Amino acid sequence: SEEMVIRSEKLSLIGELAAGIAHDIRNPLTSLKGFVQLLKAKNTEYIDVMMEELEHINYVVNEFMTLAKPHLNHFIECNIQSLVQSVVHFMKPQAYLYNVQILIEMDQDVPAIQCIPDQIKQVLINLLKNAIESMTHGGVLYVTIRNEQNQSIIVSIQDQGAGISEELLSQLGAPFVTTKTNGTGLGLMVCKRIIECHGGKLSFQSKLNQGTTVVIELPLMPVNNPDL
Ligand code: ADP
Ligand code: MG
Repeated sequence: SEEMVIRSEKLSLIGELAAGIAHDIRNPLTSLKGFVQLLKAKNTEYIDVMMEELEHINYVVNEFMTLAKPHLNHFIECNIQSLVQSVVHFMKPQAYLYNVQILIEMDQDVPAIQCIPDQIKQVLINLLKNAIESMTHGGVLYVTIRNEQNQSIIVSIQDQGAGISEELLSQLGAPFVTTKTNGTGLGLMVCKRIIECHGGKLSFQSKLNQGTTVVIELPLMPVNNPDL
């Protein structure tokens, strides 16, 4: 539809802007970090705060750069189970800090899919991070992988966290929507864009104070997406 076309044009414009801005910010940022490190030898008390703020800018820039990346990558055949396992392994230290146990459950016969593995990894990292951060009292985080009739693969991430209000649910995926003091509000926007580029769907079910389930649906067949 016309709306879809306009939307995807807007997104690629954002991607191009992001690439330019990120590039222009990165070099001075690296140089600033170096000089702040040098100052640290003199033990000035505000240096740690400056360093933290620089790290935060760095983080935002990196998230933004992901927006521009789809144009540079290729679809390859990939095994979602091992991708999920490696990302879960990567997130273990943060899960441990939050007292969260991550359990993976998967169908035996999950076929390979065509995807851009680094991007799917990015999606899984962003979603697991949100799930863990929502579980301030700890608990179990379930990740399930299902073969949906050899048509698509469904990965669900089910947390026992704070949940999301209906008002916030309707805004998810829009840029800069965050409830966190140090949040970027870019994580879900990046996830949504990546999954849409894969011809898939990202959906959320949530109950306040009970938890959230994020469902990623990815088609098996390679997509012919003009946005790529
Ligand atoms: P950020 O994590 O930087 O805030 P995101 O785009 O990743 O940005 O998420 C946006 C907001 O959506 C979060 O600030 C949070 O309020 C809400 N959210 C996302 N995932 C979850 C979840 N699993 N449980 C509760 N709230 C969530
Ligand atoms: Mg996030």
